[in-house]
Amino acid sequence: MKPLNQLLRPNIKGLKPYSSAREEYTGEAAVLLDANENPFNEPYNRYPDPHQRKVKSKIASLKDVETSQIFLGNGSDEPIDLLFRAFCEPGIDNVISIDPTYGMYQVAADINNVEVRRVLLNEAFQLDVPALLKAVDDRTKLLFLCSPNNPTGNCLNTADIEAVLNGFDGIVVLDEAYIDFAPGQSFLKRLNEFPNLVILQTFSKAWGMAGIRLGMAFADKELIGVLSKIKYPYNINVLTQQKALELLASESQVNFSIEKLLSERGLLEVALKQLPFVQKVYPSDANFILVKTDRPKEIYNFLVEKKIIIRDRSSVALCEGCLRITVGSPAENSLLLEALRMFEMCYTESAKFRKRKWSQSF
Ligand SMILES: *Cc1c(COP(=O)(O)O)cnc(C)c1O
Repeated sequence: MKPLNQLLRPNIKGLKPYSSAREEYTGEAAVLLDANENPFNEPYNRYPDPHQRKVKSKIASLKDVETSQIFLGNGSDEPIDLLFRAFCEPGIDNVISIDPTYGMYQVAADINNVEVRRVLLNEAFQLDVPALLKAVDDRTKLLFLCSPNNPTGNCLNTADIEAVLNGFDGIVVLDEAYIDFAPGQSFLKRLNEFPNLVILQTFSKAWGMAGIRLGMAFADKELIGVLSKIKYPYNINVLTQQKALELLASESQVNFSIEKLLSERGLLEVALKQLPFVQKVYPSDANFILVKTDRPKEIYNFLVEKKIIIRDRSSVALCEGCLRITVGSPAENSLLLEALRMFEMCYTESAKFRKRKWSQSF
């Protein structure tokens, strides 16, 4: 890896961060008259802890990392954006991303006016390592991987991820938003092996807390220090920190919901495979299923009419004809399957009708 100082934008290297009011004092104060807060309306009158010490210490013991290796953001969106702002000089630097993948990397790049070099996955939705490394030049700062990948649903091969980590001298961002649904190991255990690795995880998926907006980035403490230096001082609000602490105390509840979703995913896969208009159900390591059909738009629109919303991914590279379906509750999944069987009936009826018309024309 290039030294961090060589990868950082010059303005970030020299940046002096905002010093928040409570920075200079860390004990338990009795009287707080430093931040122009209102003394009434406890506890929401107080600014949140800018370092989220309690939440980080819980996460550190849960994930077996140091608190200095954790950054917390307003969703994963925040660390994604901060990585661009820390490392990529607008109009000059570039990043590499796999294709297809999560749309937010491209959006963050566009906002920051940074070129994204997209490198197609192979037909098995795995990395083309030589092609990824070939896309690198001396202005390439970040390389985005996502495992399990969205929208394809599969884990990337560990050996390929290692090859990218060893072969690229910039920062590798490995998005593990769905890792809790996957059979394999997180790269978190190996954080200390790779100083150029940033792992993204989130409270939005397996933890069931998309509403509180809490994303995690794990990396070497020097890199985490950079993200912490450039974030908004109070980026994680009081309510989010409270709710996260509550949730972190009830890990068994989270494990229960993961088990439930995995068994629902299995049932859904079996049922989807039986539908005649489904050409392929891709194996999933996440809480969603990618399904190839012969009429994605019609199915999508039919479901919208039934007030069931899924994701049309048919215009995405390597995903021609594909729909992405999130695994819901048992009740939601039955409603989905019921609607798809109804579509099947209309579909076979209209196919028969077309055939009849065709034979009548002779
Ligand atoms: C859903 C998702 C996230 C989560 O984003 P948040 O901002 O934390 O809600 C991150 N990465 C990928 C690939 C996702 O699909």
